[in-house]
Amino acid sequence: MRSSEQNQGFRGINPVTGEALGSEFFDATLAEIDSAMADAGEAAETLRGLDGRRIEELLEAIASGLERRREAIVGCCQLETGYPSGRVAGEFQRMVAGMRRFGAVARRGDWLGVRIDHGDALRQPVPKPDLRRMNVPIGPVVVFGASNFPLALSVAGSDVASALAAGCPVVVKGHPSHPGTSQLLAESISEAVSGASFPSGTFAMLQGASTSVGQELVEHPEVRAVAFTGSLAGGRAIFDMAARREVPVPVYAEMGSSNPQFVFPELLEKDAAGFAKRLFAAATMGNGQFCTNPGLVFLPAGASTFFQHYQTQIAGDVGAPMLNARIRDAFEQGVDRWSRVPGLEILVGFRPAAGIAIGAMAVCARISLQDFIAAGATLQEEVFGPATLFIECAAADEFLHAARSFGGQLGASLHGTEGDLGGRLARELLACLGGLAGRVLANAFPTGLEDCDALQHGGPYPATTDPHWTSVGTAAIERFGRPLAFQDVPDRLLPAALKAGNPLGIRRLVDGEFVEP
Ligand code: NAP
Repeated sequence: MRSSEQNQGFRGINPVTGEALGSEFFDATLAEIDSAMADAGEAAETLRGLDGRRIEELLEAIASGLERRREAIVGCCQLETGYPSGRVAGEFQRMVAGMRRFGAVARRGDWLGVRIDHGDALRQPVPKPDLRRMNVPIGPVVVFGASNFPLALSVAGSDVASALAAGCPVVVKGHPSHPGTSQLLAESISEAVSGASFPSGTFAMLQGASTSVGQELVEHPEVRAVAFTGSLAGGRAIFDMAARREVPVPVYAEMGSSNPQFVFPELLEKDAAGFAKRLFAAATMGNGQFCTNPGLVFLPAGASTFFQHYQTQIAGDVGAPMLNARIRDAFEQGVDRWSRVPGLEILVGFRPAAGIAIGAMAVCARISLQDFIAAGATLQEEVFGPATLFIECAAADEFLHAARSFGGQLGASLHGTEGDLGGRLARELLACLGGLAGRVLANAFPTGLEDCDALQHGGPYPATTDPHWTSVGTAAIERFGRPLAFQDVPDRLLPAALKAGNPLGIRRLVDGEFVEP
């Protein structure tokens, strides 16, 4: 079905009570999609000529506007997601800080990657041309946010902030799981855009509960790149759509992951109770609805004390809301898929959460490494929710064998004592995990991202559709620049970033040496 003037409305659902919330929303029509994309195309012309300080003013105005509406946004988000107030408050802070951080990145200008090689008219046997290279905004970007980060990875999240910081207009496809939150965020951004005297096409958000809205957006001729956060099925579908376009465009899709954890023997001997507690806390954070959830845990066989402690943790679980009925159902089906794998023992199976309309409690299961490998891709697939699968290895040496069976991951961790992590096995395992994950960790779980310059949140397929990039952390801006070289262009015609006097005061690579402003 394609978007039309007539479509069925939808509402946010409170997962705690199961009630439909507030206003009714409608899929964007073809006319609305066309108009938003045409405006974005027009705005791209203006934004291309702006310097980083102007862009920082916009992102600061957006951050301040969001802060002014904090109460309404946080309240609506809590109702639409069932997340506890502390989680929503923390995510709100992360969203606003991210907006300001990308403003600073735009001003700093190092992401422009300026390289200057001065010409030499007297060089023999041929003169050397003057070459100057920098990144320029790629053009209008379509952003798809995920349901599980309604603030930090949605309408005002990292993809939007990084694209705007690069000088790209953005059209967001709102996630149907939090339409009211999306609306409030979008209104706030549009007001800041107008207040900062940016063209109205700089930002738009279109609602949609059917895949046709996303499809129309990805296929629109004005689009120059797509940023997606969500499921493997969704990301892959959008990547394929973009590749089939007459003019293909890059799709930066960040998708799910099982994030394997490797637990060394001495740690389990010395601190089985502590590790069980830490693992349980990480596995049930946000009720397991994190792309960085530690879903697969490899440990030496015979760790019965650890299992007793883990069962104690699970016995204290009261469950929590799941984001929507589709995610809750997919979680139940994922656990069911596990239960049909030969040799897999469900230790604690799927249970709805008492008193929560759309909820679930923690699940865990175990299997031998041999049966895990025999099951092939089935058990490597993410089960999105609070599910942990323990894979028992005859000896820690088998960890390497296990790690080599994996596809791309967002994160992978080693857990051990100093003795465990000081040996050859830990070194080899870390090297092996470095070949398949975007981030490797020691004695830490991948859940909870430190949003900063050095973060990498990506990884080889199927964690993402392109392992070169990150969707969180300031390097996320690099996805939205296109390198452009100027040869023998007179100074007065060059962009400010490339002019002889360095009027923007940015760091540049000049004739092979970095020159600080
Ligand atoms: P989702 O179902 O893939 O939805 C994400 C967005 O994509 C929605 O707006 C959805 O719109 C759209 N979409 C999905 N399939 C589509 C298709 N075939 N054509 C056009 N549009 C499509 O993901 P989710 O359930 O919200 O989020 C949970 C997943 O995201 C988990 O797998 C989690 O691991 C992953 N995630 C990854 C990261 C990361 O950084 N890597 C972060 C958070 C979450 P409609 O609903 O209208 O179809």
